[in-house]
Amino acid sequence: MLKVDHAAIIGGGFSGTLLAINLLRHGALRVTMVERHADRLGRGLAYGAAQAGHILNVRAANMSALPDQPRHFADWLASARLGQEGSFATRRGYGAYLCAMLDEVRALARDRLTVLADEAVDLQTLDDGVRIALRSGTIVTSDVAALAPGNLPPHDLPAFAGLGGPAYINDPWAADIAQDLKADDRILLLGTGLTAVDCALSLDGAGFRGPIIALSRRGLAPHSHGPATACPPGGDRPQGPLSALVRALRTRSKDVGWRNAVDALRPFTQDMWRAASAEERRRFLRHLRPYWDVHRHRIAPQVADRLAAMQAEERLRIYAAKVTKADPDGRGLTVHLRRRGEGRTEQLSVARVINCTGPLGDLRGARDPLLKRLTERGDIRPDPLSIGIDVDRQCHAIARNGSAQQRLFVVGPMTRGAHWEIVAVPDIRRQVWALAREITGAHWVEAEGL
Ligand SMILES: Cc1cc2nc3c(=O)[nH]c(=O)nc-3n(C[C@H](O)[C@H](O)[C@H](O)COP(=O)(O)OP(=O)(O)OC[C@H]3O[C@@H](n4cnc5c(N)ncnc54)[C@H](O)[C@@H]3O)c2cc1C
Repeated sequence: MLKVDHAAIIGGGFSGTLLAINLLRHGALRVTMVERHADRLGRGLAYGAAQAGHILNVRAANMSALPDQPRHFADWLASARLGQEGSFATRRGYGAYLCAMLDEVRALARDRLTVLADEAVDLQTLDDGVRIALRSGTIVTSDVAALAPGNLPPHDLPAFAGLGGPAYINDPWAADIAQDLKADDRILLLGTGLTAVDCALSLDGAGFRGPIIALSRRGLAPHSHGPATACPPGGDRPQGPLSALVRALRTRSKDVGWRNAVDALRPFTQDMWRAASAEERRRFLRHLRPYWDVHRHRIAPQVADRLAAMQAEERLRIYAAKVTKADPDGRGLTVHLRRRGEGRTEQLSVARVINCTGPLGDLRGARDPLLKRLTERGDIRPDPLSIGIDVDRQCHAIARNGSAQQRLFVVGPMTRGAHWEIVAVPDIRRQVWALAREITGAHWVEAEGL
């Protein structure tokens, strides 16, 4: 086992911050964390770019950042008088919780934790350690490094290649998505998932009252959570191929309702993904993923109510359609689209198009200098499905030649090729906690503490 006195973490969002906190909780090593957006430190994209109206998708009771202290967030929320365990807190509130944890650990850890507001632009793994080059020119050397880069930004869609703002916005989290819009402007959101939901709420929150159209091939939008209920016990892991998942879900849904049936699969999803063959995983992504996403990643009831009100007022419409072409027309864009099941193409004149298709997973399209260099050198490689970075079960990056990098780890959503269910807090908190124990050699948690 490697002797680790100093670990470097690249990325200070939820995954990187929680890895740092867990490393410091579990051992006596030094940690250096590098985050390029100083204002997102501790919060990352999800909790650092959130607007006031953005609400968590998971009840407070299941949002503890520490798997060994399940009530940690609910207790913090109650003590801050911001909600109860059954409520859906704001994402900004959750960001404040993460920052409070980081501040607390920083105060206790003192010079064992160094936080650098900088960007890692290169990283080399050497026989005796890791050498990280930062944009400022600073070099950080450590025994091991963990990449916690979050998702890659969405890719440019072919129909919109070369088009720029204000008519086409590729970053749905940009602060200016509602800027300079007129009351009768029409907005097109590409995508109907959680990102499109966020965008519709941001536009509404910014006072935009014009029509918004959200489209995707199937026109599927996330479902709402139901009332808080304890999931009835007794759900077994479905055996056999992934198609067994659908059968098992249908059968169990009849007894306990589809929400409970989906939630009961949660403990098994990662194991089922690992057990599936490459072809089964591919088939799942091609055919089942859109349905899985809208049933599994649900929205808070109050968010669903807001969207329903916007739809009732015809300020929000959802289309099942495909964009074939987009042309600048002086006022914005004329978008050519084909509705699902129809042969003819229709034209839609819109003031602005916002790309809400979700994050890019394919490493080969990454523009990030660090990931580009690591990929080009073969220190990391895409997973077989090209939905993230290839890792083994212990989060070691897999090099192009197939060997596991002993000094380089990857955590967070970019490890979805190996684990699939590794996007939400309940899964990432377990991943980084387990990795921290691995790196520090901790064997139990009872004696932990700074
Ligand atoms: C909008 C949104 C809402 C969500 N809502 C929920 C929810 O309600 N409940 C839930 O359980 N999960 C939710 N999730 C999922 C989950 O919480 C996130 O996936 C998780 O926060 C991922 O954190 P991360 O640190 O891996 O990535 P990020 O938050 O993206 O953080 C990565 C950080 O790394 C930095 N970085 C990257 N490269 C470098 C570099 N080279 N040098 C320096 N810094 C770098 C970036 O600046 C960024 O701050 C949500 C996700 C999103 C995107």
